[in-house]
Amino acid sequence: MCGIVGYLGNKKAIPVIMQGLKSLEYRGYDSAGIAYIKNDKVNIIKKAGKIKNLDNVLNYKEDTYLGIAHTRWATHGKANDINAHPHKYGKITIVHNGIIENYDNLKKELIKKGKTFISETDTEVVACLLDEIYEKNKNMLEAINLLAKRLNGSYALNIICSDEPHTLYAVRKDSPLIVGNGNQEYILASDIPALLHVTNKYFLLDNYDIVKIDNNGLKFYDENLKQIKKQEKVYTGDLEVSSKKGYDHFMLKEINEQPELIKKLFRKYAIGDKFSNVFDISKYKSIEIVACGSAYHAGLIGKYYIEHLANIKTTVTYASEYRYQKNFFDKDSLVIIISQSGETADSLAALKLAKKNKIDTLAIVNVFESSIAREAKYVFYTEAGIEVAVATTKAYLAQILVLLMLAANTLKDQSEVINSLKLLPNLLSQYINNYDYKKIAKKLVNYEHIFYLGRGLDFSLAMEGSLKLKEISYIHSEAYPAGELKHGTISLIDKNTGIIAIVIDKTIKEKTISNIKEVASRGAKILAITNDEKNEFSDTKILLEDYNDILNPLVTIISMQLLAYHIAKLKKCDIDKPRNLAKSVTVE
Ligand code: GLU
Repeated sequence: MCGIVGYLGNKKAIPVIMQGLKSLEYRGYDSAGIAYIKNDKVNIIKKAGKIKNLDNVLNYKEDTYLGIAHTRWATHGKANDINAHPHKYGKITIVHNGIIENYDNLKKELIKKGKTFISETDTEVVACLLDEIYEKNKNMLEAINLLAKRLNGSYALNIICSDEPHTLYAVRKDSPLIVGNGNQEYILASDIPALLHVTNKYFLLDNYDIVKIDNNGLKFYDENLKQIKKQEKVYTGDLEVSSKKGYDHFMLKEINEQPELIKKLFRKYAIGDKFSNVFDISKYKSIEIVACGSAYHAGLIGKYYIEHLANIKTTVTYASEYRYQKNFFDKDSLVIIISQSGETADSLAALKLAKKNKIDTLAIVNVFESSIAREAKYVFYTEAGIEVAVATTKAYLAQILVLLMLAANTLKDQSEVINSLKLLPNLLSQYINNYDYKKIAKKLVNYEHIFYLGRGLDFSLAMEGSLKLKEISYIHSEAYPAGELKHGTISLIDKNTGIIAIVIDKTIKEKTISNIKEVASRGAKILAITNDEKNEFSDTKILLEDYNDILNPLVTIISMQLLAYHIAKLKKCDIDKPRNLAKSVTVE
């Protein structure tokens, strides 16, 4: 979940590493640390809290050309200075992203042999074990290879051995790590933004690949320690990913990028009044969408489109539940895995299970050649570009658009969807620019509890609206099917409860409105996001135009995103990096 940067090259290492680490801040973290070589000795500095706590005590002019650094998202042990990475044991210093599932057994084994530990982390156990193996064979490549065979779980590791102060090692399994190949300089990182200040050329690592970087250059070894060649990739996207381009927050920038994104997807996948190059789902009897968080919510909207347009039965399952439920693995079914980062641990595990049971898998991911993209049988990239804000906006919308295209692609006459999507960029721009969301946000900002209510498709939208609000504003919020309230939850409603009613879905509108009136009679004030012009059921409203069933949900999304953004802004929250959250959830 955290970020890793390692550098070996001809520039002073600390500024290069810190620039990389700062560009990974979006991934979420609670402490940061660095280890660097000076006069052939390892120096370690680490601090709980924001990167600036570390930055404040670093000397950028330090004479060092090799280092490893880390932002930690604590999984084992509190977020404090001691648990922060790097961890050093004997001759081994490491930074680690991921979770070692068998760390407890390994730790007990090592304690029996007389080893002692100062942190609560699984990572220190890895450092200790590697040190023990290395002390026996004095060969780092072999030691790392043997280590990998002992570890269960996920890891991306950057490693320094004190006996080889001019060499950097790395290995990964199920946690992201890439290697930037500059001009006589090399940078290891969790993600592309962290290496673009050095180079746009990079290598992807497969599970168990080992990297060795020294003054002779960069070498890769496979799990049999055979030296292997890797294909160099070139990143050709936006080099200015870490710039807000004048917006107050990345989230606002990314909300504003959505109209352009639709045009981009359209240019790529629509020719005349038909979609082209879109994966064909028509041969499947059923579809199971598996995802987490906002991607799950995108899946719910996708279900609506696929069932209504393609007439294929679709279910949506939380990836974190998928492996533990009874699955039927029907050979005529397709499993669609949705993940922005393509590294979501639960989704990756679900994908592997479906594959193992010989089910066709389609990945809908944003990050090019990420683990899920590489593992799935088929891939459909969402093309949303790098998303920096932890709370997803443009990647979520792109996931829905991709699902819509999959559904529409099965239709003989695709012109209605195509013509609707042609209108969408302008409509979204109108809703972004013409509404005073701040004014509405002021009415909601002081609530401690806000319910998002809706039925049918509106409930699926409500789920994402509520998630967006709680993740960035820290207001307690629930999405609830409006018809279910009276079966218990309505007891929570009084004049101090905020209600946001989503009333877009015409098939069930009248029923939703009755439910809203029940809530209003208990004293709650109602904000409606609706296309119902009469609208006699709300105190405040965001009135959307009634376009059609394809466009209505998509314009609703924009309003919910901006509402959450402005509420969080009024509360002066850290909108792009909300507490406790990480952008890429690489732990189960
Ligand atoms: N499991 C490790 C720890 O808690 C690494 C967590 C991370 O990926 O940041 O220190």
